[in-house]
Amino acid sequence: MNQLPVFLDVIFLLLAAWFAWRYYDLKKRLNTYAKSVRKQTEAADQPKELEAISAAVTALQTAFQADRLALNTENARLATVLAQLTDGVLIVDADGRVQLANPAACRLFGISNPHQQTVAQVVRDHQLIEAWQRCQKTRQLQIESVEIPTRKQILQLTVIPDEYEGGSLLLAQDLTQVRKLEMVRRDFISNVSHELRTPLASLKALTETLQNGALADPEVGPRFLDRIHTEVDALTQMTQELLDLSRIESGQVQLNFEAISPRKLIYSAADRMKAQAERAHIKLDVKCEDGLPDIHVDKGRLEQVLVNLIHNAVKFTMPGGQICLSAETSSGGVRYAVRDTGIGIPSESLSRIFERFYRVDSSRTGSGTGLGLSISRHIVEAHGGKIWAESEEGRGSVFYFLLPH
Ligand code: ADP
Repeated sequence: MNQLPVFLDVIFLLLAAWFAWRYYDLKKRLNTYAKSVRKQTEAADQPKELEAISAAVTALQTAFQADRLALNTENARLATVLAQLTDGVLIVDADGRVQLANPAACRLFGISNPHQQTVAQVVRDHQLIEAWQRCQKTRQLQIESVEIPTRKQILQLTVIPDEYEGGSLLLAQDLTQVRKLEMVRRDFISNVSHELRTPLASLKALTETLQNGALADPEVGPRFLDRIHTEVDALTQMTQELLDLSRIESGQVQLNFEAISPRKLIYSAADRMKAQAERAHIKLDVKCEDGLPDIHVDKGRLEQVLVNLIHNAVKFTMPGGQICLSAETSSGGVRYAVRDTGIGIPSESLSRIFERFYRVDSSRTGSGTGLGLSISRHIVEAHGGKIWAESEEGRGSVFYFLLPH
């Protein structure tokens, strides 16, 4: 009977051993698993990898921000350049709608907000519109110049095809000043050659006549020599004017200031021109306000201004006319005036006569280079003064210049 509990004890013992072994085995396997996980985690070095990824993201962000900043700076610079450009720039899409216009473009085309307007609405000139159409069709650069009479403006439009978007870039340039200058230069060359050719031809004819026997003629000989003298004087004056202007414009002229009475200056110039006015049968009067204080000027140069003005007055006044010189006090200085009863100056030319080489109409004057008034303006301005003219066609002109005390 005692055998059963012993048998049960053995069974329990075996069971306990089995459970113990199972528990031990499970624990061991868990430990092994935990170790392997830890090992794997350590092997992955997770925190460092994350750090690296985070550093890479930060670097990317910094680079991106730097790029964005550079782009913004670049954009701002481009916007400033576009805003400051005197040439107009329009960026137009494939349908001809304006996507971008700088202020110069608005100014040149006289339009306030061209954005999304069509090329035709902005440029409003059929030749310019056609240039843009040609560019769209051929995808080749087009250049077109037009004169816009309502605005007295010469515009040049360059249309450049945009390779990627199918649109175009329109560059508008105001050529008004350039063309004006070109015209003035061309006029000057033709004036100077004409002015040289006429006296030279006359000198040649006179000398040839003298050579052919007139020299021995007691009446004709001296008369021809006198004429040669006059022609040489005219040529000398012209070359002198050209030299003067080039010296004045390049700042090579030194002014010698001295105190002088305005009366003395005006009478000295009048004396020099008296004979010429008499020869042209023009009366020359002088009126000078009493008690004018002395002025500090370069006497020679200012006398040259008065002589130029009187010379013109004589040249553009018919025989029997009158010239009046005056000097009087005026706001902060002495105002000189040379008044004539001559042919006058058309109002549209009045603002241009002080430009170098400008002559109202060469057919009405005969001689002259268009330099005298330009030289006079330089001299007066070098004294801190100003010079201007008033005129009425057919009635006469007044040239004023004001010299500060
Ligand atoms: P120019 O050598 O031709 O006289 P200026 O510079 O002295 O050159 O004058 C420029 C132009 O202004 C002249 O060609 C003339 O057309 C006009 N002008 C100047 N003075 C007078 C005047 N007193 N009356 C009429 N026109 C004048």
